[in-house]
Amino acid sequence: MTKRLFIKTYGCQMNVYDAARMAELMAPLGYGPAGSPEGADLVILNTCHIREKAAEKVFSELGTIRRLKAARARQGGRMIIAVAGCVAQAEGAEILERAPFVDLVVGPQAYHRLPEMVARAAAAESRQVLDTSFPAEPKFDYLPETSATSPVSAFLTVQEGCDKFCTFCVVPYTRGAEYSRPAEAVIAEARRLAAAGAREITLLGQNVNAYHGAAPPNGSNDGGEWGLGALIAALARIPGLDRLRYTTSHPRDVDDGLVAAHRDVAELMPFVHLPVQSGSDRVLAAMHRRHTADQYRCTVERLRRARPDLALSSDFIVGFPGETEADFRATLDLVRAIGFAQAFSFKYSPRPGTPAANAADQVAEPAKVERLAALQSLINEQQRAFNRSWVGRVLPVLFEKPGRHPGQLVGRSPYLQSVHADVSAERIGEIIPVTIRGAGANSLAGAVLEREVPHSAREDAHQGTSLAVGAPRAEHLI
Ligand code: SAM
Ligand code: SF4
Repeated sequence: MTKRLFIKTYGCQMNVYDAARMAELMAPLGYGPAGSPEGADLVILNTCHIREKAAEKVFSELGTIRRLKAARARQGGRMIIAVAGCVAQAEGAEILERAPFVDLVVGPQAYHRLPEMVARAAAAESRQVLDTSFPAEPKFDYLPETSATSPVSAFLTVQEGCDKFCTFCVVPYTRGAEYSRPAEAVIAEARRLAAAGAREITLLGQNVNAYHGAAPPNGSNDGGEWGLGALIAALARIPGLDRLRYTTSHPRDVDDGLVAAHRDVAELMPFVHLPVQSGSDRVLAAMHRRHTADQYRCTVERLRRARPDLALSSDFIVGFPGETEADFRATLDLVRAIGFAQAFSFKYSPRPGTPAANAADQVAEPAKVERLAALQSLINEQQRAFNRSWVGRVLPVLFEKPGRHPGQLVGRSPYLQSVHADVSAERIGEIIPVTIRGAGANSLAGAVLEREVPHSAREDAHQGTSLAVGAPRAEHLI
């Protein structure tokens, strides 16, 4: 490899997945991973549009990269700057205008064309390249096969885009219409990931349980479609894959097949991120969520009947236009009734181009702040109680990487809790029973239950590596 590629990834797991694919696309052109943008030949900002002032944050980051590009030029080199991801899709040509030193802008559905775009940008000193189209050809058909090494816990995009158009959300505009990959392509990628060291796969989609991919040829449903439940059942049969997860699901799309998968597939982890956003039917209708608070409760009940040890996480928005104190109390009631193992909560913030942004009845900032604090305090209380309930009990932990202290590893429980324990580093990639000794707000500490066995004596030799480029844990869920 002669050229250095640095990718900075913001946002959700799908961006982490996309970053890995971009790195793989550029590898045949001689681009290898760089640990920092200084001196890189290609810098990609893989952006997220969900959080407030997303575009402004990207322009500010570009200011820093611009100085690095100038330093590179003074040394006689050339740094190509690319903006990818959802801000690229939303802002498009505006980025090239406001930041003329940016060489290319590519949307999430067009990044399979990155090598050609980089070549065009590299050939012309001053020509900027833009592609924010939603090409007719699905990008997945043009992406290279996943690489020879995989993290112990890998992401796999099975579905992309959204047709639901919740009135607060930019996703349908930045990621485009719903698309499901054929089941055969997903299974093939999962097999490669397992062979490369993955023991856990999280299936990704903006609306992952709206998955309706073409059934494999000669399968039991030849010519038809598979839902997410059927896909999960097939993936669970892949040797070496011990854990499956999916995110993010929509309450409307929890069908019988998915509930059956929670009942029948042991590899499917008993933890579901199921965003509800609000506990008030009035607000849910204004959000165009297509479900009521009671329907959400019933869906949770169906899931819990199928898998009694299931725990839940969710997303909430407080201060949506028109939300009254009574509406907010309904949200708190729902949280108390369900009991969450964890949850993400946000103040509503208007996104240009979305219907709710123009609503006249915006909630005042102080009320949003107060409601967010009250909701977070209740959620934190539930999270601490859930974590504490594990003290003295045993959880199987998939160890992923070294912990902060020497001799320590950190891994994940079935419920996505971080668990620290003293275990030798060679056991990264193993699922080991751990007795939980202590519980904090965000993590657990424990001791391995079994005696340490010399590595050579174990059949299982999965080794974990971290993602090669821009490999953060996602900042938030899709
Ligand atoms: N597809 C998921 C669903 O149906 O709930 C959510 C996807 S969205 C990328 C992640 C979360 O960001 C949402 O669940 C919502 O809570 C939050 N979010 C999205 N737009 C928002 C906005 N305008 N203001 C505040 N929070 C927002
Ligand atoms: Fe689609 Fe989820 Fe956004 Fe609603 S919140 S539009 S379901 S991505």
